[in-house]
Amino acid sequence: MKNAKIDTDIAQNSHPGRYWHALDDGRVQCDLCPRACKLHDGQRGLCFVRAAHGGEIVLTTYGRSSGFCIDPIEKKPLNHFLPGTPVFSFGTAGCNLTCKFCQNWDISKAREFDVLADQASPEAIAKAAHDMGCKSVAYTYNDPVIFLEYAVDVAKACREKGIKSVAVTAGYISPEPAKEFFSYMDAANVDLKGFTDDFYQNLCTGHLADVLDTLVYIKKETNVWLETTTLLIPGQNDSAEELDAMTKWVVKNLGPDVPMHFSAFHPDWKMRDIPNTSIATLKRARDIAIKNGVHYAYTGNVHDFDGESTYCHGCGQILIGRDWYELSTWNLDHDGKCNKCGEKCAGVFEDHPGTWGAKRRPVRMAKYATA
Ligand code: SF4
Ligand SMILES: [Zn+2]
Repeated sequence: MKNAKIDTDIAQNSHPGRYWHALDDGRVQCDLCPRACKLHDGQRGLCFVRAAHGGEIVLTTYGRSSGFCIDPIEKKPLNHFLPGTPVFSFGTAGCNLTCKFCQNWDISKAREFDVLADQASPEAIAKAAHDMGCKSVAYTYNDPVIFLEYAVDVAKACREKGIKSVAVTAGYISPEPAKEFFSYMDAANVDLKGFTDDFYQNLCTGHLADVLDTLVYIKKETNVWLETTTLLIPGQNDSAEELDAMTKWVVKNLGPDVPMHFSAFHPDWKMRDIPNTSIATLKRARDIAIKNGVHYAYTGNVHDFDGESTYCHGCGQILIGRDWYELSTWNLDHDGKCNKCGEKCAGVFEDHPGTWGAKRRPVRMAKYATA
């Protein structure tokens, strides 16, 4: 892909990228994700934001964002990581998967740079998050693995201020960069988009095995708090057999304490001929997960008090009640244990719930941009 506007953008916004090597034929190969794009100078990778420039791979979105917003942490979704607290959220542009059902395509498929209107240094983001009382910063809206260098620098700046980092990602990243990326994250919600390679190949042009490798890596080799999300698309990834296989795999390979979210699809992007997911389908997925031993399974994007709330897997009492993103009940003691039977609830908890509620507050970064 070559045109003057794009060439200018690359030249003006080239931050040195990591994870690449030169090929004998003069091209450079990006080694950040399993796509391994091989690029001539001036060419962009499939993710659009990494490009070959001056014999190297560069990141073209360092310090450029598609917007900043304070959200409830439950919206990421993370139900077992500092519940009730506000999370400072931002993303850039581009994506390294091509999901036909993308629910965020205005950002992930952005080919115009107007979406990158907000400029912010890592220090500015950390300061803004801190000043606004956020416990964490989320790399979200588009997949942060493709802007690894920016995300890692933001995470470092946040750590210095005691602010945690949360990755919302499809987990489509190669093993070496995954080590660096997740070493700076405190929590992650990883999409497990389906449980067949056909699904990943046909609808996302990716491979299931790479995502499973990332999930196992996070769970077994890091201290990152992990939850998964599956967007259930009618007729595509919602059969009882597929969900049975998926949830059994999760329990066997990640353990019973990784919360699973099953969320509702709405017709979007290139899949407008498929209906919304029914609440019955979401409840069925949650039931299958629980039957197979998942301790914490949730329905998402729908109003369903039972499916949104957290239950003690020891005694069954409700531990955290949720009404959309509003917490209604809190039955954890100061150690994150059930106050009735003493069973530990898996997760990262403070001794009291946050009080942010369901608010979504856009943030104008201009006053922090030069921090
Ligand atoms: S991160 Fe982007 S440029 Fe690199 S291999 Fe993946 S899609 Fe290609
Ligand atoms: Zn209990």
